[in-house]
Amino acid sequence: ESQLNPSYNFENFLEGDSNRLARNAGIAVANKPGGTSFNPLLIFGGVGLGKTHLAHAIGVDIKDKYPEKTVLYISAEKFTQQYIDSVKKNNRNDFIHFYQIIDVLIIDDVQFLSGKTGTQDVFFHIFNHLHQNGKQVVLTSDKAPVDMQDIEQRLLSRFKWGLSAELQSPDFETRVSILKNKLYRDGVEMPDEIVEYVAKHIKSNVRELEGAIISLIAQSSFNKKEITINLAKDIVEKFVKNTKREVSIDYIQKVVSDYFQMDVNTLQSKTRKRHIVQARQLAMFFAKKYTKASLASIGSQIGQRDHATVLHACKTVDNLSSTDKQFRKYVEDLAKKLSL
Ligand code: ADP
Ligand code: MG
Repeated sequence: ESQLNPSYNFENFLEGDSNRLARNAGIAVANKPGGTSFNPLLIFGGVGLGKTHLAHAIGVDIKDKYPEKTVLYISAEKFTQQYIDSVKKNNRNDFIHFYQIIDVLIIDDVQFLSGKTGTQDVFFHIFNHLHQNGKQVVLTSDKAPVDMQDIEQRLLSRFKWGLSAELQSPDFETRVSILKNKLYRDGVEMPDEIVEYVAKHIKSNVRELEGAIISLIAQSSFNKKEITINLAKDIVEKFVKNTKREVSIDYIQKVVSDYFQMDVNTLQSKTRKRHIVQARQLAMFFAKKYTKASLASIGSQIGQRDHATVLHACKTVDNLSSTDKQFRKYVEDLAKKLSL
């Protein structure tokens, strides 16, 4: 079982400046697996920019051209799980052997190996064996090798042996072609004006770009509504808002402390001074509002408090903003600063 998804292929991975190097390196590798200097080929880039798609496309194309070759796609997470199981079941050697006889090994999201020294160690040995035998290794990661943390140096240096190719956010033209291609394949017609509106506003993530178009089609067909620019605006707004909500708790603490001209340590400190307590409560309130973190997790990140303290903070902020005009201004100012 190669685990490859044939719907992720080169043909429907549209080329643009943002992915030209990675895409063409992938094609070169697929033409001559193990026979180019792109070994390993490491594809890196942010979420939703096509790493998994491209990783599959390489495997699918190789399987097509060289049916006799064993190609395996696996996520680093699953690889780690398999390794842990093999240790439990006392067949670590079988695990290693299984991977050493593969012709093309594709591991997705290798940043997942960070801090997992046992798995890194076993992967190091598998990698060396494959590489020495002219087998192809393809890796993806959300970061460039230089930015990877808690990955052993010897492994990082192997990652840099071949080619590291970055996937960047696609430019407007590429975003339009990705959308048009998707619509064409799904047999859906949509006015250019609307496709361009979506492409103009959703910039940094192809998965979201596609998601917005899928919602748009669904909305219009379930509600029997025409696809209008206003419907597109509503949907795009939802997508953009959701993305903006992904601020970190660290960032919130920084913004709140800056606003009150104190440092983050002060904000987190145990003091009962009123203005510091209020700043901390505001940070907790916005952490609840803008992140998906639990009350307990918010508390532990904002000065080691418990979930009850965070809950109390949120209620206090709600109450004060309806009774205290100055306080309401704090909330409004901070909301503006945090909404990027
Ligand atoms: P990542 O693994 O980097 O998070 P994915 O490979 O899962 O991203 O891609 C997210 C979605 O965007 C997938 O549906 C993929 O098919 C699509 N996609 C990304 N880049 C392109 C592209 N250049 N052409 C067509 N579709 C793309
Ligand atoms: Mg992925």
